[in-house]
Amino acid sequence: MKKRYGSLINGSWVKHKKTFDVRNPFDNSKILEVYDAEETGTLEAIESSANAFKEWKKTSAEERSYFLKTFHSLVLKNKKSIAQTITKESGKPLKESCIEVEYGASFIEWSANQCLRNCGKIFESPEQTKRMFYVKQPVGVVAAITPWNFPLAMVTRKVGAALAAGCCVILKPSELTPITALLLGELSIEAKFPSGIFNIINGKPDMIGDILSKNSTIKKITFTGSTKVGSLLMKNSSKTIKNISLELGGNAPFIVFSDADIDLAVQGLINAKFRNAGQTCISANRIFLNKEIYEIFLIKLKDRLKKMKIGSGLKDCDIGPLISKQALQKVENHIQDAIDKGAKLEFGGKLYKPNSLLFEPTVLTNIKQNMLVFKRENFGPIVPILIFDKDREAIEMANNTEYGLASYFFTSNPKRIWSLVDDLEYGMFGVNSGKISTYLNPFGGVKESGLGREGSLQTLEPFLETKFVNWNF
Ligand code: ADP
Repeated sequence: MKKRYGSLINGSWVKHKKTFDVRNPFDNSKILEVYDAEETGTLEAIESSANAFKEWKKTSAEERSYFLKTFHSLVLKNKKSIAQTITKESGKPLKESCIEVEYGASFIEWSANQCLRNCGKIFESPEQTKRMFYVKQPVGVVAAITPWNFPLAMVTRKVGAALAAGCCVILKPSELTPITALLLGELSIEAKFPSGIFNIINGKPDMIGDILSKNSTIKKITFTGSTKVGSLLMKNSSKTIKNISLELGGNAPFIVFSDADIDLAVQGLINAKFRNAGQTCISANRIFLNKEIYEIFLIKLKDRLKKMKIGSGLKDCDIGPLISKQALQKVENHIQDAIDKGAKLEFGGKLYKPNSLLFEPTVLTNIKQNMLVFKRENFGPIVPILIFDKDREAIEMANNTEYGLASYFFTSNPKRIWSLVDDLEYGMFGVNSGKISTYLNPFGGVKESGLGREGSLQTLEPFLETKFVNWNF
């Protein structure tokens, strides 16, 4: 691995004037330096992508699929080193990073396959003398802005689909975790991607985001991150009427009914809450327990939490560090706010080690709907618990949020399952499961959790335009 990484522009590594440090959140050690593309590098990347698009859009689906399949096998071949990089820059446990590499690679393979199925439609014409059809074509140059919590998978889900559709991509990864994306850049060179179809720039997010969202050469913005930044990008993109996809924040409910398998539900909560120390947009954020199973669930949950290992992601651990001091402050604020408003601290509640970003798994009960832990994503290992009696109460509380990304519920009643899918205002459901992520999932949310879906059968769709032809035959 290089000591200092430039931007990937037009198939080459380009240096700029300034650099910034990338640090390991476990011990704050410096991993390496990355060049800040600033305005000049960003404009250079846009020009390179626009030029590359002239040829890439003319390639056949077979060619694009071939490049992506080569890329896919290189990612899997380098699984170990990529996983270690993910852990070093994000802090997540190595076992989770290994799963992320496989999950992330699956989007490249899926896009390579779906690429071969891209097609328009020919209608049976209402008039004998006419032929009517539509074709699907790439939207053009795409800007992809990705978050730090899945430094590989959030990139491949966007970049795989965009390239498969025939678009060229400028990627701006998170400044906290750019190295994984840069390793993907190395592999794209090894896979002999045509120059300029995949450019990577790093630097100050507001400055680069401003240029990308206002530049008229960029036809599409695809973003995963906070609702605040998503809304800003949408506003800035409106002047040039860009196609935009947003995968934003969540506030996932996790509901356990009295007829649920309690051990399965506890395991589901461990999966849905503690992956990446609770720092995912689909993390369970509010836990609703039926009054009949509340006590037993709490006992079993605490038993599991006592056994969880906290520490360096590179060692055998279940919970790594939070990503930054700001993340830690948010977690501490949420806990303090809840306690000030009457919550009871049942487990954890403090730093695991002084002067670190390692936080104990924390359980709070007696949660009220006016507390920050109820209203906002805590993005940390906090389990805020509420009790309910009737189904209707749980549904109303679960829907009492402006977000609508993921939700989870545990019950053995099939009729209840159908009515919950109807009544809960969310884009994705884990039913008797704390895991929902797969390339088959049309990933995305309703309400203020975003616009559009990524992955699944329609994975190319956000990167395609439709052209209709009414032909007088
Ligand atoms: P999170 O809180 O999950 O880090 P952010 O929305 O802050 O979410 O970050 C997600 C991505 O958005 C990152 O790549 C980050 O660099 C980028 N980003 C942050 N602020 C802006 C901005 N003003 N314009 C464009 N991108 C931004």
